[in-house]
Amino acid sequence: MKEGIAGKVIYRKDYTTYPWDIKQLDLHFDIGIETTTVRAQMEFSLKQGPGTRQSIVLNGSDLQLLSISLNGQELTEEDYIVEAEKLTIPDAPSSSILKTEVKIHPSQNSALEGVYLSGEFLLTQCEAEGFRKITWFPDRPDVMTTYTVTLEADQSAFPVLLSNGNELDRGELAGGRHWVKWDDPFPKPSYLFALVAGDLALVEDHFTTRSGREVSLRIYVEEENLDRCEHAMESLINAMRWDEERFDLEYDLNVYHIVATNDFNMGAMENKSLNIFNSKYVLARPDTATDVDFQGIEGVIGHEYFHNWTGNRVTCQDWFQLTLKEGLTVFRDEEFSADMQSRAVKRIRDIRDLRSRQYPEDDGPMSHPIRPDHYSAINNFYTATVYQKGATIIRMYHTLLGEDGFQKGMKLYFERHDGQAVTCDDFLKAMADANDVNLDRFGRWYSQSGTPQVKVTDHYDAATLTYTLNLCQHTAPTHDQQEKQALVLPFAFGLLADDGQELPLQLENEAAGKPGARLLIMEEEQQQFTFINISEKPVPSLFRDFSAPVKVIYDYSQQQLAILIAHDTDAFVRWDAAQRMAETAILEQRKNHSENTPMSLDPSLVKAFRGVLSDRQADPALLSEALILPDEDYLAEQMDVVDVDGIHAARCFVKKALANELMELFKQRYAEYNDGQPYQKSAQSMARRSMKNVCLSYLQETEVGESLASAQLSSSDNMTDTLAAIRNLIFMGSPVAETALADFESSWMDDVLVMDKWFIMQAIKPGRETVDRVRKLMDHPAFSIQNPNKVRALIGVFAMLNTTGFHADDGSGYEFHADRVIELDGLNPQIAARMASAFNRWKRYDENRKALMQNQLQRIASVEGLSADVAEIVGNALQ
Ligand SMILES: [Zn+2]
Repeated sequence: MKEGIAGKVIYRKDYTTYPWDIKQLDLHFDIGIETTTVRAQMEFSLKQGPGTRQSIVLNGSDLQLLSISLNGQELTEEDYIVEAEKLTIPDAPSSSILKTEVKIHPSQNSALEGVYLSGEFLLTQCEAEGFRKITWFPDRPDVMTTYTVTLEADQSAFPVLLSNGNELDRGELAGGRHWVKWDDPFPKPSYLFALVAGDLALVEDHFTTRSGREVSLRIYVEEENLDRCEHAMESLINAMRWDEERFDLEYDLNVYHIVATNDFNMGAMENKSLNIFNSKYVLARPDTATDVDFQGIEGVIGHEYFHNWTGNRVTCQDWFQLTLKEGLTVFRDEEFSADMQSRAVKRIRDIRDLRSRQYPEDDGPMSHPIRPDHYSAINNFYTATVYQKGATIIRMYHTLLGEDGFQKGMKLYFERHDGQAVTCDDFLKAMADANDVNLDRFGRWYSQSGTPQVKVTDHYDAATLTYTLNLCQHTAPTHDQQEKQALVLPFAFGLLADDGQELPLQLENEAAGKPGARLLIMEEEQQQFTFINISEKPVPSLFRDFSAPVKVIYDYSQQQLAILIAHDTDAFVRWDAAQRMAETAILEQRKNHSENTPMSLDPSLVKAFRGVLSDRQADPALLSEALILPDEDYLAEQMDVVDVDGIHAARCFVKKALANELMELFKQRYAEYNDGQPYQKSAQSMARRSMKNVCLSYLQETEVGESLASAQLSSSDNMTDTLAAIRNLIFMGSPVAETALADFESSWMDDVLVMDKWFIMQAIKPGRETVDRVRKLMDHPAFSIQNPNKVRALIGVFAMLNTTGFHADDGSGYEFHADRVIELDGLNPQIAARMASAFNRWKRYDENRKALMQNQLQRIASVEGLSADVAEIVGNALQ
């Protein structure tokens, strides 16, 4: 806990430039697990020019200051002021050399920011504000400088010593010690600094860039994981090639390091030439990782690599601009994965993710624009809004300007800003100037929070063959912002005839109709589009490819949805129509459940599902997406007052009824894809496994479920099929499940990553008994509350994904979870805050649950010395 910090709010409008340039930073680390000594030397020169004097203000946290000198003069405590994580040297000359020496204590660092210990090696995490836990420095992204870093350590305990840039020199010292000196020629902000020291094994490959630069690619892992790096390496090489081909961007150094750690707060970190990764996003073998893991690795390896340009070469002026690098880089990694795999499937998964994680954020107590206006803990703003919605807004530039126009804008952005720390406005200006268009109004997406609703009504006049579409956009007031403006919405759409054919579109002022989809731009609150020569009453296919992140309200009949599901040319619209149909069907049964009326299955849903199951043309991965029912959280978002038990009962009912009604088809498709072929990594095989396992999840609701799952488990040669089988056994409450879990445990007990999956499978089981199981599992030797992956797997999954367990109406889930938030806050505030956000939607529940959650929030809020991170989340929720 940093006293005096909690509750202090930082505003975007208060930004001022740092008065000093720093020409060079030389760091020397004397490395030890208990104590590391850090010597820093930096050259300050006043931006105003020579002759004047100014205070030098530095950031630091938990540093034990040993010495400090300015221009060769040792400073005493009277020469500087230390308060609230700041050190101020008043009245420094315009050209000053500052030297400091501090002690830090890596092994005591449980927050995993700054230098910390993972297993037996040391590493760093500096974004956003971890560098201040290493040494005194202006720890803000707009202070960029070149670094040289010398690492000195015991040679046997720390044979590998890595930092950013190129290795300059190395040598041996007396007493079995050695040193390595690194030099990074590219100016960078402190958040991109990294070091790694320890005994790590290495997998090496290489890549030749388009202009002929030979780059050595090195992945460092613990010895036993050497055989799990192949996919990460392949993904890295693909990413490097892709960025050259699609974005004309080349790598700029001779070495690229990736280091995998089991102890990491986030997914991975893009430190210049020394990426540090959560091992979850590096290590994979078919028997230890699922298809989703493999795809995740490709995406995250790509993401961090792409940051080398969008984030590192051009960085953010301040943390309010986080989406400048994150939204853009997520867009780039989404496009990379889409080009590597099936574009349609990737889009649908990203859109599902945005709707289920970001829409609730927009509607909750932490709502904020993609470029927030204030924060008290920046760590709380690494959100789905900044990342995923930010990427959607970059995608809208792409939709509006086209690929060529977008690339022209990117080119100008790099020409203007390479080596600088800039703002979202600079990015928008580069896009506008390169294409000679005005994007001022589009810029509202950066400052407005909330999910716009677009209400669509239409009218067909059979006499004149005209069809009129009325669009009306509205963004409801959010927690952070009352007034909303109309936004620019790219509106891609088409019209379908009853037989599913796409109708030619002719606007009333156009000479002739054109076949295919159309992109219109909506800029006003209300807009009307009239089409002529429309031969029959059409079915509108709206916001194709999810052309804007909005909620579309249109009163589709089940028959219209059926036409879209069967015939639309746009994969997103087909999928979305199936989701809408299922959502309507489930929510209707929810109503029956609450009124004690018997539930029944909507025949049009059966028909639509039969169509999907009988489709022999489409990509099976796409079909499997269409068969996945909307999840309970998404359904909950569609209700004014969430009916936890009703939604669960109705969804279970619909799934079971569909499974029984269509059992023969599910069995057929399952058998077809369960063909006994040995495992392959190809996208095609993944698609087949995905369809197979979706079919199995329906069959689990029928009499054949147990035998199929048991057979799949015993014949499986890969983790995807194994996990799917065990999960089904658990969900159906089969007695075989316990044996399967026990076998899994004894096979993988020593494998930290695979054991995460074992915890997840148990935490996710619906029902109020699960809380006791989760509590017991906390005592399992493979669990550690200090390890973020374990916390996310057991506690996070229980609170965020197990609706009936977490929301048990006796409050047992809430109480358990609040205890964990409090416990975690003393160890790792960043993770504690993430966990605390499970209570964010408390006001949307029934009176009983509302009161129970409010009690727990108040209990957390009253803890003395609560971190700024948790205080901000809980404070906003209670407001
Ligand atoms: Zn990123």
